[in-house]
Order: sequence, then C-alpha cells, then structure tokens
Amino acid sequence: MAMLKVGMVGWRGMVGSVLMDRMRAENDFALIEPVFFTTSNVGGDAPAEARGAKLLDAKDISHLKQMDIIITCQGGDYTTEIYAPLRAAGWKGYWIDAAKTLRMKDDAVIILDPVNMPVIRNALTKGVKDYIGGNCTVSCMLMGLAGLFKADLIEWMTCMTYQAASGGGATHMRELLTQYGSLHAEVKALLDDPHSAILEIDRKVLAKQHSLSAEETQHFGVPLGGNLIPWIDKDLATMGNPGMSLEEWKGMAETNKILGRGAGFGTVATPIDSLCIRVGAMRCHSQALTIKLKKDVPLADIEQFIANDNEWVRLIPNERERSIRELTPAAVTGTMNIPVGRVRKLAMGPEYLSAFTVGDQLLWGAAEPLRRMLRIILEK
Ligand code: NAP
Repeated sequence: MAMLKVGMVGWRGMVGSVLMDRMRAENDFALIEPVFFTTSNVGGDAPAEARGAKLLDAKDISHLKQMDIIITCQGGDYTTEIYAPLRAAGWKGYWIDAAKTLRMKDDAVIILDPVNMPVIRNALTKGVKDYIGGNCTVSCMLMGLAGLFKADLIEWMTCMTYQAASGGGATHMRELLTQYGSLHAEVKALLDDPHSAILEIDRKVLAKQHSLSAEETQHFGVPLGGNLIPWIDKDLATMGNPGMSLEEWKGMAETNKILGRGAGFGTVATPIDSLCIRVGAMRCHSQALTIKLKKDVPLADIEQFIANDNEWVRLIPNERERSIRELTPAAVTGTMNIPVGRVRKLAMGPEYLSAFTVGDQLLWGAAEPLRRMLRIILEK
C-alpha cells in the first residue's frame, strides 16, 4: 500500500522541534511520506527525512491539497489564514494542529488519547477530520488526574498554575534569562563580598527590576526574573467573562470537551476554576489542585486510581524529600513523566483533596498528542 503523504508545517518552531525529535525517536517517519513546508524559506533545505526534496510554500493551497494528512505547529494565525480556504478548495484530508484556533469548533476533537481514546475513535468513525492538541496546562493536568476523572470521582476542582516562560515560545525563554543576567550583574560585586549587607543587595535588585528597559521586558511586558505575573493570555472582559483570563477559561471548557462532557454532549459539565500564574521556570507547567470528591474515598484508593491510569503518571509519596526532588520542573523537563504528589485530604472534610502535578508542556502539552494522533490515523 502506498504510504500516506503527511505535510509537516511549523516543524522548526519550538513545538515543531520537539515533535520532530519525538517522531525520530519513535521511528514515525518510516511509516509516512513526509513533505516539509515553510512560511519563510521556500525552496530552502528540508530536514533529512525529506530525502532531498526542498521546502514547499506553506501558503500554497495547491501543494497542501495533495497531502493526506497535515500536521501543523505553525500557530493560530497560520490556521486562521489557511484552514478555511484549504477546505473550501475541496481538501478532505486529516488536519492535526497544535494551535487553539479550531479547538472549540463543534466538529473538531481535542486530542489526548490516553485520556479520551473513546471520543477520538467515535469521531473517526463519524468521519471527523480535524484533530486539535489541547491547551498545554489542561493536557498535563488531565494526564495526571485521568484516573479520578474516569472513575467519575470529581465534583469540582480548582487549578492554581505555575507556568513556565517557554509557554510563550523561544523569545520568552530568552527574555527571562536575560533578566536574570541583568539582575545578577547589578549586584555581583556585593555578592562576591560575604560581608555586604543583604538589604543593600535586595534594594539594588528591586531598583533594577523597576528600571529594566522596554527591550528587556518586550515579551512579558513586566519583569519575570525574580517576580511572577498573575495573568496569562487575553482578558475575557470584552467577551462577557470579566475577571477571567483566556488561559483560565480553557481549564473548564477544554477539560470537559476532551472528556466528552458538558452541553455539547448532553451532560452536565464538571466545574473547574483556575488562577493561572506565570513564574520564572524555563519549561514545564506545574499546578496546585483542590478537588471536591463526589464521595469520601480512602486516600489509598485515590492514590491507586491516580497511579494506575496510564504508563506516564508517577504517584509521588507525600513526603518532603521525594517532593522536592521529583515534583519540580527541573526534574520533569524533557521527560514524558507526569508526577502527581502532595496528595492529602484537607481540613475542610473527607471529600476534599489537594494535589500538585508537573508536566513538560512541550511534550504531553503539545507535541506528543499530535504524533500519537498520526499513529492512530495510520493504524485505522
Ligand atoms: P514558535 O517557536 O514561535 O514557532 C512557530 C513558527 O515560527 C515556526 O514554525 C517558524 O516558521 C517560525 N519562526 C520564525 N523564526 C524562527 C526561529 N528563529 N526559530 C524557529 N522558528 C521560527 O511557536 P511555538 O511555541 O512552537 O508554538 C506553535 C503553536 O503551538 C502555537 O499555536 C502555540 O500556541 C502552540 N502551543 C505552544 C506551546 C508551548 O508551550 N510553546 C504548547 C502548546 C501549544 P517557518 O519555519 O515557516 O519560518
């Protein structure tokens, strides 16, 4: 049987590079005929997997139309510009996308197969052609808590997030590090002298944070080094949700859609409220969860539900040493593991549970569900 033609768009960006690494590691390219596209370097050299073919124009519908499957990590503006004209031109292929543009469309599925394989299979049977990766924070949370959702134990939940600079892309990671460098340079002489006054160091760092240039805060707008930012993405005030950021809105909307719950599925949605915070971590989104269970379930059973759901979740015993070593962005970055720890019942009552989870948002939060969807289509 002829191999399917798979158009790769956005393969050199941050999510795209992680996707390329994972596809190479899992030997996905042996199963497809990849065709590489670009928005900036038409005719340039493509990766080795193109077997000598040059980069094609990612905005040329006549090329895109020849693909059986298109995987794009190019971003939302690209999807907005290209998707509708491509479908209007009669293209019937599978569209697999990391961007948020099409996620909440009625006939698109948010993909996270270890959690919602039945939703994906049902959609494939019905002929659905659009499969969109979820918000990174939502996907990482669900990989950790899928066991509790599948057992239908969650009445409601709050997610307090601690999100890394890389959520904004490569430029944001550079900005954070540059700021850390500026702050350090400001007090280096004082740090080198063990007898210098700590309040003097503190004062100089603060003064430097307040005087960082527009260029040094170009991407986050305010300092992130030695600071935090309690708002991520757009303000939904103009869309009827005053006081809520777009990132916070996604927590409930996308979680329910991934699980096949809520009005669109004729069931009641699980309430989820979030407060999303940007912190000075490089990679990995972390979140502190408060969960109201539907009933009082023994802690040991809860731990089993969490630990046994999938091969990537890691239940970390609620102990100091294990928590500080295994439940951090520095421990998780670059791995597929989703540790869940700090699990305990709360003083509010036996149905109240706390948990803390960390996930590499570029892997389970972005690239991995896309390549797994490709495999699901190939094995169909
Ligand atoms: P990105 O790094 O900015 O890459 C997007 C595109 O920018 C690339 O495909 C590339 O297109 C172009 N580009 C321009 N200069 C570049 C350079 N110096 N190096 C590499 N690429 C460059 O964006 P991203 O963070 O991967 O995000 C892609 C999509 O995934 C977005 O819709 C985003 O919302 C979504 N997403 C991101 C994350 C995350 O944690 N960052 C998580 C989940 C989903 P050309 O090759 O055509 O020039």
